[in-house]
Amino acid sequence: MNILEIENLTARHGLLEAVRGISLSVRKGETLALVGANGAGKTTLLRTLAGAHAVAAGHIHLKGEDVTALPSHKRVSRGIALVPEGRRMFASMTVAENLKLGAMAGRKGDWSIDKILEIFPNLQKRIHHKTGHLSGGEQQATAIGRALMSNPEILLLDEVSLGLSPLIVDRVYASLDGLIKSGTTIILVEQDLSRAMAVADRVICMLEGRIVLEGDAGALTREQVTEAYFGLHRARKGTAA
Ligand code: ATP
Repeated sequence: MNILEIENLTARHGLLEAVRGISLSVRKGETLALVGANGAGKTTLLRTLAGAHAVAAGHIHLKGEDVTALPSHKRVSRGIALVPEGRRMFASMTVAENLKLGAMAGRKGDWSIDKILEIFPNLQKRIHHKTGHLSGGEQQATAIGRALMSNPEILLLDEVSLGLSPLIVDRVYASLDGLIKSGTTIILVEQDLSRAMAVADRVICMLEGRIVLEGDAGALTREQVTEAYFGLHRARKGTAA
């Protein structure tokens, strides 16, 4: 079953079309990785899905409902949760307070502070600490936990590894593994191709606002994704830039 259907979605920054008529479907329980060079439009696409950026044209359907015109808080209450690039924590609030904020969408579900602490045990000792005093990895875990507390149907993760050491990134991904196994539907933006291909069921490569490659992670080669990433497939096909 498709949980999310995106049809001809366009989003702009002023005159610039950052997302250019993208259509794609996401199956329930699927992990989809969005890859592409800087400026390909990945963040704009995620923000547009979450309602944090305006739709210029096209449609977004969540479980059959057209949510295109809904503001972000209503999309959260329908089950779309975004963990933005750079984490955007409330630094003067504690981990527990940030997690409780996530629950304010009022969606029923299994997620609780205890369950978040099970998948992010590193937060246990930090639960009453202000997030401004946490390490990058702990902040990232809090940001993901806050999104999960809204019991999302679909979790949008924008570059969870950004600014973290490789060791901490490993830990964050190890926790994501549990999340993926629990059947949560995830769209994640990841700069690291190997990581994206290892974690995802399907990989989509964007270039200049468009999808240039899409396939099951197990069926694509790293070379195919790298070529699409840099637009080399176009040069080979001889199509105009
Ligand atoms: P990155 O990996 O660098 O975050 P991205 O694939 O997520 O890249 P976007 O951040 O969505 O790409 O950017 C898509 C295009 O929109 C780029 O050309 C970028 O310069 C432009 N853009 C992004 N944010 C803004 C903004 N706030 N104002 C103007 N242009 C923007």
